[in-house]
Amino acid sequence: MIVILLGPPGAGKGTQAQRLQADHGLKQLSTGDMLRAAVKNETRVGRLAKEAMDAGKLVSDDLVVQIIADRIQEDDCATGFLLDGFPRTVAQAEALDVMLSDIGRKLDAVIEVTVPDSILVERVAGRYACAKCGAGYHDRFKKPAQAGVCDQCGSTDFIRRDDDNAETVRTRLDAYKKQTEPLLPYYQEKGVLLQVDGEQSIDAVARTIDEALGV
Ligand code: ADP
Ligand code: ADP
Ligand code: ZN
Repeated sequence: MIVILLGPPGAGKGTQAQRLQADHGLKQLSTGDMLRAAVKNETRVGRLAKEAMDAGKLVSDDLVVQIIADRIQEDDCATGFLLDGFPRTVAQAEALDVMLSDIGRKLDAVIEVTVPDSILVERVAGRYACAKCGAGYHDRFKKPAQAGVCDQCGSTDFIRRDDDNAETVRTRLDAYKKQTEPLLPYYQEKGVLLQVDGEQSIDAVARTIDEALGV
């Protein structure tokens, strides 16, 4: 199965993608995670992406399209994958259509996780992740079972993203509205768009997504 998760920053895409990967074996492909790793490792891609990411703007279509085109051909994507944070522009969506038809595969569903703007800032400002395994947490909404210890791997080391501050979130939300929302009618016309209320609890969103996908 090939699924896209769409939604503004803080909607819960990464949270649901991690869970879908654990529960249903759909490989999570997060362009944000890949780009952050590239920046950290100071690769060519990282150097090209850093400035836009720090400002909360989108990196160039060419860069992310190339990353995804290479990644979906790897063995662990053979049974299915979940795109988290890609595509984010109509040009990226068109490039994805070409990529999929080149490898003889098709998109099964696009899930839009809808959340009102007013709660996104708190979602993003309270977000942190395990530095070792990447498991996502929240200061209020998703605390580890034992304070300060990762549920998944037992690490006591956590990180916060540099771009998760109130000012950059607004720029990112703006980019979402201008550049990514046009994907909604694009996928609606193809008959693959499903909408999920992302304001519910994490578990309720998970159940709604599973029902929508029939998994
Ligand atoms: P995205 O990948 O869409 O930017 P995340 O999955 O990282 O969003 O979620 C943003 C923050 O909100 C994280 O700290 C996460 O733990 C928390 N979160 C995710 N889904 C929910 C939810 N349904 N209710 C409350 N908090 C949530
Ligand atoms: P969020 O989870 O808050 O929606 P991401 O982790 O997906 O954020 O993305 C972080 C940053 O990485 C974005 O603000 C943007 O600069 C860059 N980025 C990630 N995916 C893409 C993409 N598909 N196209 C362009 N830029 C991207
Ligand atoms: Zn961990």
